[in-house]
Amino acid sequence: MINFTVGPVQSNEDVLKIGAQQVPYFRTAEFSAIMLENEKLVKKFAKAKDDARVVFITGSGTASMEAAIMNLFNQQTDKLLVINGGSFGQRFVDICKIHELNYTEIALNLGENITPEILAQYDGQGYTGLLVNIHETSTGVRYNLDAISAFCQKNHIFLLVDAISSFLADEIDMANSQIGALITGSQKALACPPGISLIVLAKEGLDRINCNKIKSLYFDLKPALKDGERGQTPFTPAVSILLQINARLKQIKHDGGIEKEIARVARLANYFREKVKALPFELITNSMSNAVTTLSPKNCSAYDIFLTLKNEYNIWVCPNGGKLKDQLFRVGHIGNLTEADYDKLIDAMNDMDKRGLL
Ligand SMILES: *Cc1c(COP(=O)(O)O)cnc(C)c1O
Repeated sequence: MINFTVGPVQSNEDVLKIGAQQVPYFRTAEFSAIMLENEKLVKKFAKAKDDARVVFITGSGTASMEAAIMNLFNQQTDKLLVINGGSFGQRFVDICKIHELNYTEIALNLGENITPEILAQYDGQGYTGLLVNIHETSTGVRYNLDAISAFCQKNHIFLLVDAISSFLADEIDMANSQIGALITGSQKALACPPGISLIVLAKEGLDRINCNKIKSLYFDLKPALKDGERGQTPFTPAVSILLQINARLKQIKHDGGIEKEIARVARLANYFREKVKALPFELITNSMSNAVTTLSPKNCSAYDIFLTLKNEYNIWVCPNGGKLKDQLFRVGHIGNLTEADYDKLIDAMNDMDKRGLL
């Protein structure tokens, strides 16, 4: 099976080997050192300032989305903007609703990017926070971070970025874009098993957390930040995944750092995008993340393509759900993949085309 989904994705041999070991006890100086190294490397790759911190949550990406919202914002003083162009934007909306926060949704059409003009409608209206999934993985649209960042700086708005599928695949500079908090997860470009998500917090985010009282034991980030100072977590973390993340981060550093890693993902994305042009698919956006190519078949159901590739060619692409099930499918470029893997995918698609299945 070759896995071109957007997560969980294929891990490399070193990461797989760690997963096959016994889980070590973690209240040790050795594990603390690994956690502190994880924090240091994540900050470096996110281009966060020295005074930023990272919390590691045992829970999938959504756990960190909810924890971030609960800890950073409150019902009394915050007025939020949520960019919603797909199912992950909708998830932010749902979390704000459940926690009874004061929010306004900026609903975008399928494939639409955010623009300075759209944002300008919300200038000077007292908004205090903006929530965005910088790559809306469900549709493959990568939003205009420069426009969002400029709008937030102009209006003194705290910027929370879900970069779960974008971190390590697209350029991101927390300090330069003045991102207050950035979320990512273990099973996307980090290419580890699912189970850990992390929140990188700039000083502004740390200040918000320290002033906020929240009603949750597990998701209260204050004890997590305190214990994190010595490389520990309040509760038992997914120890093995944290060791796998450590191996992966160190490998990226060893192989030339974040720029090299992003370039590697971009090269695979471009390789595939060039070859797939000859097939009867349409793109739904011209603003794509390096992480994913979203394709819309001209003549058949997208879901049938997913099923045929899985059942007859041993290839997983990523299907869409809900309303978009028959309209879109996605091909990921994150994880341990090579050009040769894309050759196999293109061969399979060409074969389907010959069989009249596209
Ligand atoms: C994968 C993903 C998530 C998190 O999903 P989980 O299933 O909770 O890990 C959130 N936002 C985006 C943009 C994602 O791609």
